Amino acid sequence: MPLDQYRRDIHYLRISLTDACNLRCVYCMPEHMTFRPRHELLSDDELRRLITLFGRLGFKKIRFTGGEPTLRPALVDLVRHATTTAGIANVGLTTNGVLLDQLAQPLRDAGLTSVNISLDSLDEAKFRHLTRWGNLRDVQAGLAAAARAGLRVKLNAVVCRGVNDGADVVELARLTLERDWQVRFIEQMPFGNNAAFQTRGVVHETELLGVLRAAFGPLELIDGGRLDGEARLYRLPGARGAIGFISPVSQPFCADCNRVRLTADGVLRLCLLRDNEVNLLTLLRTGASDDDLEACVREAIHHKPWGHGLAQHVVPASRGMSEIGG
Ligand code: SAM
Ligand code: SF4
Repeated sequence: MPLDQYRRDIHYLRISLTDACNLRCVYCMPEHMTFRPRHELLSDDELRRLITLFGRLGFKKIRFTGGEPTLRPALVDLVRHATTTAGIANVGLTTNGVLLDQLAQPLRDAGLTSVNISLDSLDEAKFRHLTRWGNLRDVQAGLAAAARAGLRVKLNAVVCRGVNDGADVVELARLTLERDWQVRFIEQMPFGNNAAFQTRGVVHETELLGVLRAAFGPLELIDGGRLDGEARLYRLPGARGAIGFISPVSQPFCADCNRVRLTADGVLRLCLLRDNEVNLLTLLRTGASDDDLEACVREAIHHKPWGHGLAQHVVPASRGMSEIGG
């Protein structure tokens, strides 16, 4: 089991399958984003090799993300490879849900059991404003298909001040009254040249709790506030599902971090919000053996930074969220 120098057990790999996307969320990327050419990205074979290697290293959990992972033609095969890799007990997918209508059942058949779908508003116009290009009905069809296929559903909403921090949060939370879903509110994080916009737009957990209390009454804290992944969970009175808060800005959870990220262009990113990276693509393409790769990954993990530096105004500069994999 890889431990870092602070003795954190690192066993969760998030893999970005592409930096490209079919939406242009305002908090994630500019409308005229350029994407990396195919040959600069890990091939399907390279991905399969790395997944097997991380399983051997002691990693237990993999989440496919992006960019938009459903744009990767081999997504279902890669999920099948991950779910059948020795050591990997848990495979997840984070998607905007636009293409999930057709993919939910094949993904379920490939062994996927749960899916995180990003949905920032149930209001069509607001959804379009936040995603620039999105059509809410596509995501709703994706959600319905995921539920039909028997996938466990978590919804992720990034909250932006002045856009979806009031009625939208209330309506998203209301979904948990009837459905056994987790609806999670994410604090917006700053990256590179979008940092000022993102920092201005962030809405902290305490403020959102106030909005929800005003609408629904007191919320029940689940599990004494112990994090479920990165989320602190609450329940609305009488609800079947749960509300989660992912609050990296106001309540950093770096001490409990158990993850690293593999970008679509084959770089191991040791902390989402720090620019420390190790290039595995070059190693793969210059004939490194599995032992060489393993040694390199172990060494990189040992040097995983303690935590982010947002409180000291340290903002990652080299990549935006869609180029890392959220
Ligand atoms: N395209 C997929 C999606 O939207 O679910 C997967 C990739 S996306 C980068 C992963 C998650 O990061 C999404 O839930 C998205 O809302 C979130 N995200 C994007 N930019 C963010 C930011 N600046 N701060 C916090 N979360 C962000
Ligand atoms: Fe695309 Fe996801 Fe970024 Fe939105 S958050 S632009 S869906 S990668």
